[in-house]
Amino acid sequence: MEQLKNYIGGKLIPSADGATLENFNPATGDAYSSLPDSDEIDVARAVDAAKNAFPAWSTTPTEERSRLLFRISQLIERDTEQFALAESTDQGKPLALAHSVDIPRAVSNFRFFASSLMHFASEAHPMEQAAINYTLRSPLGVAGCISPWNLPIYLFTWKIAPALAAGNCVVAKPSELTPMTAFMLSSLCIEAGLPPGVLNIVHGLGTKVGQAIVAHRDVPAISFTGGTATGRTIAQTAAPMFKKLSLEMGGKNPAIIFADCNYPEMLKTTVQSSFSNQGEICLCGSRIFVERSLYKQFKQDFIDAVKSLKVGDPLESGTNLGAVVSEAHREKIISYIALARDEGGTILFGGKKVNPGGRCSNGWFVEPTIIEGLPHTCRTNQEEIFGPVVTLTPFDREDEVLQDANSTQYGLAAILWTDNLTRAHRIAARIHSGIVWVNCWLLRDLRTPFGGMKNSGLGREGGLEALRFFTEPKNVCIKL
Ligand code: NDP
Repeated sequence: MEQLKNYIGGKLIPSADGATLENFNPATGDAYSSLPDSDEIDVARAVDAAKNAFPAWSTTPTEERSRLLFRISQLIERDTEQFALAESTDQGKPLALAHSVDIPRAVSNFRFFASSLMHFASEAHPMEQAAINYTLRSPLGVAGCISPWNLPIYLFTWKIAPALAAGNCVVAKPSELTPMTAFMLSSLCIEAGLPPGVLNIVHGLGTKVGQAIVAHRDVPAISFTGGTATGRTIAQTAAPMFKKLSLEMGGKNPAIIFADCNYPEMLKTTVQSSFSNQGEICLCGSRIFVERSLYKQFKQDFIDAVKSLKVGDPLESGTNLGAVVSEAHREKIISYIALARDEGGTILFGGKKVNPGGRCSNGWFVEPTIIEGLPHTCRTNQEEIFGPVVTLTPFDREDEVLQDANSTQYGLAAILWTDNLTRAHRIAARIHSGIVWVNCWLLRDLRTPFGGMKNSGLGREGGLEALRFFTEPKNVCIKL
């Protein structure tokens, strides 16, 4: 069984006390590797290594930092096949998806920030003849980056790349459920010649390693993606130390479909926005609101389209939904489907565990599930399930659907389908979410601000927002 290691001070090492955790393949249910069960001692070592590396890294010429980040992106791209297979095996997602989305995006993340740091400029504010102000932006020191299991290397690199680009050193923790590609990244950083201690990756449990990173006095900034409850715990720990916080948290995103939309395009994309990555994307639209005049037709066509999705071995071509990430998560999803029934919902399709047979007989699979007949106020429609489960709700009026769409504690993303341009602008302005996709889904430009409002997020990632987060601005005012 392969033994994953921490990456601290440029070396691959076990946890200080040698403790390990098992790492499972969700498609087979088997433990297939082990990872360090690290604790605050490992985190303290990683922070020390990062602090030691900071003076040199933060003063390394921009061009050299950029070159190293480009090199890492090239190495990930070179190893796309191995990374895609590892991500699929570790997370349960279809290999084809890892190959077409997760790994290319990890490559782009490094490439994008390698390039952005070459163009990152700060402001000057001249006061006519009196004075000139200019802004200096310095790296913060050691940044803590904590990421979840749904898009493992995609989200891990989305944090690390801007932090390093801005001149910080990093102590990072991937989810203990999906550590493999972060481990592979450590080897590539060594190969790329990243100086020891600039990036440190500590594996283990959130409550031990994650908590120790957040609580460490010498880590002044935390960039976190994960659940809202965890974000709240992190904020409670970090607030008394006045740490900089970027929190990307849960969602319960509405997809609002008007009868005047491009129907075939909407139908195809709505299947994707509902069930891609087994519904385990924070941006999936899990509450589908359909204008009543279109509801009957949409319901039938949507069910037919979803019936044709194949749930099964992530490594087989043609598989649309792989395994969900863990047994515990599968039970959570199934319990929410039971709750939907208790709340009076009708399961139009799916609702059960799947046994694909063969090597996947003991894997953790769930049918794509469509539910109707629930009020927007019920728990099924208010709480994040984070699996292949959507609800359908008809609506009559724009103001009514806006109110229902805005009724949850979350405000991450919204999807809107209409060919009425005026309506699109009107709703986009009034919907409570940090991201609005009109007539599309998951179309991403890495320069745009990314994040949620309400309990979905604090701060924004992406482009200049990320580089600004990972730097401290200082205004210098010079009297002329
Ligand atoms: P969790 O909040 O459980 O975990 C996220 C990360 O935080 C993991 O690395 C976890 O470690 C770690 N962690 C857990 N407890 C603590 C703690 N007390 N202190 C510090 N770190 C801790 O989220 P999931 O991994 O279950 O991911 C799913 C959630 O992520 C969903 O709510 C989803 O919406 C959200 N998400 C949000 C996105 C966004 O952009 N807004 C994007 C993707 C996902 P470990 O796994 O080892 O416990």
